[in-house]
Amino acid sequence: MAVTDNIPEHCPGPTTEQAGKASACQGCPNQNVCATAPKGPDPDLPLIKERMSSIKHKILILSGKGGVGKSTFTSQLGFAFSNDESIQVGVMDIDVCGPSIPKIMGLEGEQIHQSLSGWSPVYVQDNLGVMSIGFMLPNPDDAVIWRGPKKNGLIKQFLKDVDWGDIDYMLIDTPPGTSDEHLSITQYLKESVIDGAIIITTPQEVALQDVRKEIDFCRKVKIPIIGIVENMSGFICPNCKGESIIFAPTTGGGKKMAEDEEVPFLGSIPLDPRIGKACDTGVSFLDEYSDSPACKAYLDIITKIKAQIKD
Ligand code: ADP
Repeated sequence: MAVTDNIPEHCPGPTTEQAGKASACQGCPNQNVCATAPKGPDPDLPLIKERMSSIKHKILILSGKGGVGKSTFTSQLGFAFSNDESIQVGVMDIDVCGPSIPKIMGLEGEQIHQSLSGWSPVYVQDNLGVMSIGFMLPNPDDAVIWRGPKKNGLIKQFLKDVDWGDIDYMLIDTPPGTSDEHLSITQYLKESVIDGAIIITTPQEVALQDVRKEIDFCRKVKIPIIGIVENMSGFICPNCKGESIIFAPTTGGGKKMAEDEEVPFLGSIPLDPRIGKACDTGVSFLDEYSDSPACKAYLDIITKIKAQIKD
């Protein structure tokens, strides 16, 4: 089900008896999906609510486009939070068709175990658990070619059937754009409350255009926006320390867009080839390169995020 700007004004809602059949549905791109979707209250919602009650904070990580560093940011945020041993962190990768979290967090080839209390996340360390469809594929190069309902079913299982235990911060890495996965997660967590969304972008207008759609999506589904992070802003040469602008912020970049949209701007992270290397080898960039400008940028942003999320 795609979220588009032309959702009818008098949309009866996707779970009502009128879904897909009302006169307002005529011409809506979601008409067929809504007409055939199950109706009435979802019997799994109370189960999800019960399971999610042990999770204090839920944060969505969004991006308009792919390749802007969303999964990288999610994983570094996870590593950073879990550096405090008293904090329990969960990373839920709902990018069903392109799960890169297992690779980035050094968990490739790991498998999910099942116990009486449900599926167990895969642990990077005692206080950092991860769940991803990547753990379920026999071969990491296998394509996941699933339609909406099957993807939604898996996301539901991640919320309902995973024994997350007590978690302070749950970071939910989503696919780029606004699609089935985003609608499902917001719908399934409606009663469990999402603290907010962090939106990752790069500085170019082509990327920002899509970020405005993410902001619009958050507003439509009433998820607070924690803030915008601009990634890949500038490159600091490791030798001469001079800065080059690789992706020019032709329309003012993430900061200006955040001001225009009246949402918080959390900061900019420069391009640093060592980030790519850390991701490819599955280690924490923040631990490995703690004296780099990019690490400082990450930590400043993480401090701002923590300040916004109250206990
Ligand atoms: P997305 O989740 O948005 O599709 P990824 O997090 O997978 O993007 O990042 C895409 C690629 O860019 C990865 O190879 C990652 O290592 C790299 N990358 C992300 N941020 C930076 C950065 N600031 N500097 C250099 N490389 C980066």
